[in-house]
Amino acid sequence: MNCNANHSIRCTVRNCKNHCTDQDYCALNCVSIGTHEANPSMDQCTDCLSYVKK
Ligand code: SF4
Repeated sequence: MNCNANHSIRCTVRNCKNHCTDQDYCALNCVSIGTHEANPSMDQCTDCLSYVKK
């Protein structure tokens, strides 16, 4: 399948519907990032809110 990789958004979450499986990029033009923590202090505290289960 041809995927329109956005080379400004690198991503390795291959089980996301928006991921270009053969390349580690997202296909969306823009993604929303958020946090599930009250005071985020490391990268693990952040989440891609544009994630869609494949
Ligand atoms: S929506 Fe988020 S998790 Fe999904 S491929 Fe794009 S950047 Fe990765």
